[in-house]
Amino acid sequence: MSDCIFCKIAAGQLPGSKVYEDDEVLAFHDIHPFARVHVLIIPKLHIATLADCTPEHERLLGKMLLLAPRLAKEQGLDAGFKTLINTGRGGGQEVFHLHVHVFGGGDPVGRS
Ligand code: AMP
Ligand code: ZN
Repeated sequence: MSDCIFCKIAAGQLPGSKVYEDDEVLAFHDIHPFARVHVLIIPKLHIATLADCTPEHERLLGKMLLLAPRLAKEQGLDAGFKTLINTGRGGGQEVFHLHVHVFGGGDPVGRS
């Protein structure tokens, strides 16, 4: 999608602080982190929301989720981390390209 900011990041058209990349998935630091560590995991394929996923995306979703603990560990979140997927406007989603927030290193009982 030409007007999608995360598609542009996935295509290397925007600078992003990449922490992981393979042929299907990319992870990079959130530009407005709400914790000491805050990364986003996205599929390179444009999927607008989690609600748009179908059984054909099952393996891709599993891959994205399994990447979360690996990246959290690499980013030093040894005590644990949070994951978040906002879905749709009512779910607080602002960027309509599927992404998993992985964050931690802040207040363990607060938002971060
Ligand atoms: P959400 O509310 O789940 O759609 O979250 C979108 C997230 O994308 C927010 O945490 C933003 O800070 C983040 N974000 C928006 N634009 C960029 C960008 N260019 N690079 C990195 N993160 C971004
Ligand atoms: Zn996109």
